[in-house]
Amino acid sequence: MTNFEFSEEKYQEYLQSDHWLEFSEKIKRERIVCEECGSSKPWLEVHHCNYDCLWHETDDDVILYCANCHEKLHIDIDKRQLTICHREMTKKGKTKKSLDEFLQMTMADRQLKKKIIYKYLPMFESIW
Ligand SMILES: [Zn+2]
Ligand SMILES: [Zn+2]
Repeated sequence: MTNFEFSEEKYQEYLQSDHWLEFSEKIKRERIVCEECGSSKPWLEVHHCNYDCLWHETDDDVILYCANCHEKLHIDIDKRQLTICHREMTKKGKTKKSLDEFLQMTMADRQLKKKIIYKYLPMFESIW
């Protein structure tokens, strides 16, 4: 089983669990607004700071964001991860593209981006 199947499936399953729905609703009730910008629009989303805490999150393991800040944060995370992947791929001779070209190509293609991250990002650097 690849890392990709494992993480993606497990996580999607997890997001549907009663445990997570209850916990994330509690966080939204308590914190009310985005911790980054103070807005609650267009809607609120709970972000995991790390994935080791699944099933036993504490309040410190999550951050409440509005959908906009959450998306921005994940773009930053993706860029950081893809930069690491680019380094790995260059080392292995899998790409000849410059980092800029590589980021432009991978950020524009969600499927490709995911594939590359799950294939080339070392496990210990995975963050969500
Ligand atoms: Zn926000
Ligand atoms: Zn998140």
